[in-house]
Amino acid sequence: MIEPLLSDDAFLLDVEAMRGRPGLHVWWLGQSGFLIMHEGHCAVIDPYLSESLTEKYAATDKPHVRMTRRVIDPARLDFISAAASTHNHTDHLDARTLKPITDMSTDVAVIVGAANRAFAADRLGAEELELLTADDGETVQVGNFSFTGIPAAHETIERDAAGHCRFLGYIIRAGAWAVYHSGDTVLYDGLVERVKPYEVDLALLPINGRAPERRVAGNLTGPEAAQLAHAIGAGLVIPCHYDMFEFNTASPEPFIAECVRLGQPYRVLQAGERRSGTSK
Ligand SMILES: [Zn+2]
Repeated sequence: MIEPLLSDDAFLLDVEAMRGRPGLHVWWLGQSGFLIMHEGHCAVIDPYLSESLTEKYAATDKPHVRMTRRVIDPARLDFISAAASTHNHTDHLDARTLKPITDMSTDVAVIVGAANRAFAADRLGAEELELLTADDGETVQVGNFSFTGIPAAHETIERDAAGHCRFLGYIIRAGAWAVYHSGDTVLYDGLVERVKPYEVDLALLPINGRAPERRVAGNLTGPEAAQLAHAIGAGLVIPCHYDMFEFNTASPEPFIAECVRLGQPYRVLQAGERRSGTSK
């Protein structure tokens, strides 16, 4: 089992220590989950902090054996303003992570794609929750943060009958900062053109690639993630969606090699590790 760099009390101490510090602070929670802090306000995107999938698939031929120990009990995340989910797969919309967060945080908005509103409300038992939606090119504002939907192709762009995207990424803005969390996606025609105008400071991109034998929808490979970051002019790229489940992971080495080849600034985080941007 991989140990997070920071977990439990040590993780929360690091979060608290950044509260008064200017800039943008980002922690990797494992898989596609990130905590983002700006001026003391906190948002989470795609947090997966439970054993939901390990238990769900325990007796099947697709066991989800956890590789990295959990960073933090979600019931201790009682300071979250916004919790966003990119799509309905459990590692991106986990009731056993999101319900403790919404139970413990006093004023938290949950953001999902417009196509996924009913599903998410049902999964989260969310009638009383503030459930907000974004979509392709639509923005929702939550306190200091705004979330703008960017279509994701997992592995194709799928829309519901009303034309809303089932898979999204988000441009997350906080102050002068812009973060692109792609959700689960492969490269598609037009993706670069959609994202580039946002002048992204930080891109959070999956690197686990596509492997038909896994029987799950695939994602960017490491080299593709590096190329996408480079093409959109991202100030920094952080890889994600690996080291969570043994059957669906990847080494970050090919991602690193391609970033180096392209001259693309990157940072590989350990689970629970923070990256701070202090000036821009
Ligand atoms: Zn995923």
